[in-house]
Amino acid sequence: MAYAFSKFGAEGWSCPKCQQPLQPVEVNVKYMGSSFFVELPGCPTCGTILVDEELAVGRMLEVEKLLEDK
Ligand SMILES: [Zn+2]
Repeated sequence: MAYAFSKFGAEGWSCPKCQQPLQPVEVNVKYMGSSFFVELPGCPTCGTILVDEELAVGRMLEVEKLLEDK
């Protein structure tokens, strides 16, 4: 199983519903038959994740590819 970890800065983000500053939330994302572990900016009050999960994983896979090329 593929395993990777990615961080997205949550500074300056806030939940449109709660007006709460977002905090990093660890999310397990299933993508293309693999499971990935990513950290996304989420609302501590309602749990909303404001980053598209597929976008997050897609960006992470690009990083993985860079690492493999070395
Ligand atoms: Zn919220």
